[in-house]
Amino acid sequence: MLGVFVKHDKLGSPRLVVVLKGLPCSYGKCRFCPFGLEQGSLRDVIWVNREIVERAVKEAERLDPERVSIFNGGSFQELPLLVASWLAPLTRGRVVDVESIPGMVTMESVESIYRLLQPRRLVVRVGFEVYDEEVRRSLGKGFPNTEIHRLSRLREELRSKGIDVEIVSYVLFGIEGVDEGKVVESVEKFSKLLDGAIAVKYHRYLPSHPREARVSRSLAEYLERNALYVDWGDKEWEIAGIKPGGDGA
Ligand code: SF4
Repeated sequence: MLGVFVKHDKLGSPRLVVVLKGLPCSYGKCRFCPFGLEQGSLRDVIWVNREIVERAVKEAERLDPERVSIFNGGSFQELPLLVASWLAPLTRGRVVDVESIPGMVTMESVESIYRLLQPRRLVVRVGFEVYDEEVRRSLGKGFPNTEIHRLSRLREELRSKGIDVEIVSYVLFGIEGVDEGKVVESVEKFSKLLDGAIAVKYHRYLPSHPREARVSRSLAEYLERNALYVDWGDKEWEIAGIKPGGDGA
């Protein structure tokens, strides 16, 4: 759901989650992706986000959150520059999360986001979803594992230039086709090669999307112990009026 949400969780207390309207994702091939339901034209994106950012800045003044997570249903770099330029009052001096597809995470793009947002630390969340390359490809995510290794090196290079950045990966669980062993392997690999994993419970929004899979108690406990955060799906996951786990089955 687009808007501003206040969270108290492992990542920050309080943490502000700001969900902006995005332009269509230029990658656009992930078989499970619901974000197209909320994306819009350039005019809509500017119009809708102006109000969301104003609200977020007011909330940040009131709550002084430690961390601000900014999502736009795609890569941050694809937000219109005008919208991105409104964000510094919200992000300056704070830990800030943004999302990106791997190919858009480069030395230049991270330096430019860092200059624009002026965070205390920038956390770039990348959606590899699963470590196994073949399983990833079956989800429509054609990013090769060489990209994981490239990002692993890139974060070291950025830090050596004094840029406080972390690169973490999402791990999708509870989705047909990704067994629990692959989920555990992914958390372990991303914790070793990158700065950790954020586990995201899959929710099916449309009948054309893959089915949900049962999540065992042992996996849930493993993720709570080993992932940076487990996102089970809260109200910000309501997309275009469809609640998580609601209409897709
Ligand atoms: S990269 Fe992200 S926004 Fe783009 S299609 Fe895949 S899941 Fe959706």
